[in-house]
Formats: sequence, structure tokens, C-alpha cells
Amino acid sequence: MKKHNFYAGPSILPDVVIEETAKALHNFAGTGISLASISHRSKEFDKVMIDAQDLFKELLNVPEGYSVLFLGGGASLQFAMVPFNLMNKKAVYTNTGTWASNAIKEAKLFGEVVEIKAKDYFSLPKGFDVPSDADYFHFTSNNTIFGTQYKQDFDLNMPVVADMSSDIFSRRIDVSKYDIIYGGAQKNLAPSGVAFVLIKNDILGKVDRKIPTMLNYQTHINKGSMFNTPPVVPIFAAYQTMLWIKANGGVAGMEKIVAEKAELLYNEIDRNSLFVGTVAKEDRSSMNICFVMKEEYKEFEAEFASYASERGMLGIKGHRSVGGFRASTYNALPLESVKALVSCMQDFENLKK
Ligand SMILES: *Cc1c(COP(=O)(O)O)cnc(C)c1O
Repeated sequence: MKKHNFYAGPSILPDVVIEETAKALHNFAGTGISLASISHRSKEFDKVMIDAQDLFKELLNVPEGYSVLFLGGGASLQFAMVPFNLMNKKAVYTNTGTWASNAIKEAKLFGEVVEIKAKDYFSLPKGFDVPSDADYFHFTSNNTIFGTQYKQDFDLNMPVVADMSSDIFSRRIDVSKYDIIYGGAQKNLAPSGVAFVLIKNDILGKVDRKIPTMLNYQTHINKGSMFNTPPVVPIFAAYQTMLWIKANGGVAGMEKIVAEKAELLYNEIDRNSLFVGTVAKEDRSSMNICFVMKEEYKEFEAEFASYASERGMLGIKGHRSVGGFRASTYNALPLESVKALVSCMQDFENLKK
């Protein structure tokens, strides 16, 4: 039976990415040895690193003056590296979910954090004022667990930092409005093991504290992201994903299909008499689509979960902190999989009527 991969992360990657990575694990770039056992200083891998950095910039239309880094430690290490490198006294953070609050926890180790919050995590704070004396503003563009998403860039007179773990390359952004964009690659880009960091070179060097070598962005910028051994295999896979994005219309192409998939599924959630969406409509994420059974049908939740899994739907269980269901519709998820889930919801409704 065909499997439909709705996992939130690690998550679906394009088939061609898996195939090319598997091939390279056997014989990398005609070297006769595996990608997993070649020196990261070899000219063949050096080319992958440089091409991956260049393509990252090309896909996002990155202006001059930025560097692309591929680092270990996931997005979670970036929660600490950002304030370590940027915060003197004070930063502003939107608190829009689990990941944002994890980021805030780290930032508080370095100074004062002004938190901006909506009444709960099912909608986003908007139209707020940002204190002008802050060192930077941080937000999570897509909240993977609760399923909310900012679809616009913030335009502020201070450095802007964004965690884009779960929506990088899914919509066009104006990079010139950002100073750091980071994320764990395992949602929309690569297997786990690498984080991407796009950083504006001239924002560094403004804090007084001593920064350990590995946690200092400047170290990695100076060494072209090769200060120490980088996560070679996931970087190769990330590059393959970027090639696939480019071949499929670039980020604009992704944006179109991502919108189509999200609309299809949200329309069904709104139409179907058994289900209801959990998020304020204007804040709905195009990447992580959360829904539950209506109060009067709650008893069917477990039954629907097994019904769906018998039909090949994988990973639609909601995060343990939210419950219900979550379908992650990342770039690589085929439209066909969303159609299959929609049919599954319709058939289940018919079964219950
Ligand atoms: C998954 C996720 C993280 C954590 O990523 P790790 O690479 O596991 O540290 C952080 N932020 C967001 C928005 C995420 O979705």
C-alpha cells in the first residue's frame, strides 16, 4: 500500500533526494568511495559545500553581505547562539509556541527578554509595539506544534532574527529585512543532523562577552562553515533538496503548490461535519495543519486514527501537547497525499452517518 508521510519532523523528503543520497553513500561523485567516508576537505565535498551555500542564496534571492552556515546542534543550539552573539542587554521575542518559549528560555540566560504573546498559542500576536532600545527582535515564522504561521516579513528598525525551521523555502521572503534566519533542516530540507544559518556579516562583534570558539558565528563565517567537521551527509542531502526546489519552479513554485495543498485540506476540515480546525483562520499554517474531532464526536478520535493509518496515512497524530491530528504538508509532500487524506476524512464521515 502507498504510504503518505505526514510526519512533522524528521519528515518527508523528495524521492530523488533519498535516491541521490543513497547513491552517494555508495560512490560519491565518481570517487569510488562513500560520501560517509570521504574527507570533508576533499575537493569533491568542498564543491558540495560551496554549491550548497550558493544555491541557498540563489533560491532566497539573498543580497550581498550574508553568509550561509551549516552547523551541528540543531535549531535548539541556535536558541543559545543567537543571544550569545547578539544580546547586550535586551531582546524582544514573540512567544508563539513550544519552540519560541524554548528560545526565550535560552535568551533569558543573557539578558532581559520582552515577551510578546497572544491569549493562547492558537492565534498569533499582531500589531504590537517593539521597544526601540532592544538589541534584536526574534520570532518563529511557523509554529510546528500549534500550526500557526506568520506569512509576512516584519519590517523593523532593529536586527530581526527568525526561526524558520519548518517553513524555509516554502514561501518567498525579503531577506534584506532579516539579520539571521536559522532552522533545523529536518523539517523541510534534509535529514536531521544539520542546522542552516543565514547571517548578515556586519551584525557581529557588538557584544562585550567572550564567546567560545564553536559558539561564535564569526568562527564559522571565517572558515566557510568548515571550522570543524561539518555534518557531511545531511549537507549533501540539503543540497539535493535545493536542486529539486530549483527544478520545480524555485521558492515561488513551492509557494504555489504549498498553498494549493493547504487550501484543499483546510477546505475539507471546514466542510466535514466531524472535524474542526484548532487555529484562528487568519493565522493558519500552510505547513502543519492541525485539527480535532468536534466536541460531540470526540469518542471517534482514536477510531479515525487507526482508520487513517490502515489507509497508509503516517504521522497524523497531533503533538502530545495539543492532541487531535496534525498533517504536515511540507514542500516534498505530493498533492496526491493530501487528496488521499481528504478522501479518508470523507469516507470516515460517511461511515459515521
Ligand atoms: C523542530 C523545531 C525546532 C527544534 O529543532 P532541533 O533541530 O530539533 O533543535 C525549533 N524550532 C522549530 C520551529 C521547530 O519546528
